[in-house]
Amino acid sequence: MTDRNNLLKNKPLLIAGPCSVASRKQILKIGQEVKEAGAHAIRAQLWKPRTSPGSFQGVGKKGIPWIKELKALTGLPIAMEMMSPEHVGLVEDVADVLWVGARNMQNYELLKRMKNDPRPVILKRGLIATIKEWIGAAEYIGRDRVILCERGIRTGADSMRFTLDFNSALVAKHDHKMPVIVDPSHTAGRRDMVPRLSLAAIAAGLDGLVVETHYNPEEELVDKSQTISTKVFSELVKQINNLNVSKEN
Ligand code: PEP
Ligand code: MN
Repeated sequence: MTDRNNLLKNKPLLIAGPCSVASRKQILKIGQEVKEAGAHAIRAQLWKPRTSPGSFQGVGKKGIPWIKELKALTGLPIAMEMMSPEHVGLVEDVADVLWVGARNMQNYELLKRMKNDPRPVILKRGLIATIKEWIGAAEYIGRDRVILCERGIRTGADSMRFTLDFNSALVAKHDHKMPVIVDPSHTAGRRDMVPRLSLAAIAAGLDGLVVETHYNPEEELVDKSQTISTKVFSELVKQINNLNVSKEN
């Protein structure tokens, strides 16, 4: 059984995988490659929140048997995004880590459904959420099971897709005593910046990363421009392991 403390024994916690599960073959190959590269958990999203209803919405329930295979093949914990309270029950034997996306950070019925679940929950920060709103959302689930994820917010700056708010990530960690990981992929919106932002986050003493990774990013159905290759991910892991991060951070 994966609990939050076990996950966080990996310092830093590295979660990698595609933006969305596309096929059995795709997720099994990515899972194996990111494991070999040094990932501690795999992101495997069957349901995707999309801006337009005509865009690919994820493979849905049909992918559940593929995720069971992925777990058996890699032995790694699987993190899955839940878009509705029903999803939580559907992935009872499949997801080791539940995940709330930015758009659902204040979906209180979803958060309440997770309250009595033993699994750890990654709670992404809403697109313009304040620290108070983010921590309040974590309290609906239970603070001791939550790992916060800073994924960039909307500001006046438009140099990248979102603005990585290191200030809030550090305040959440040090003032609110919560583990905080960073999603450099959604922040950047472009793959060349992903390793740089990742290294900055780890050097700042944050607890880990969740990185969109694919053996061939050009094949990715969603967010391909910000997806790095498994080869680049593997190099990033080596660079992270060479960082000398002070325990005082
Ligand atoms: C994702 O992780 O693919 C995603 C949709 O992220 P966010 O909820 O941060 O936008
Ligand atoms: Mn994505």
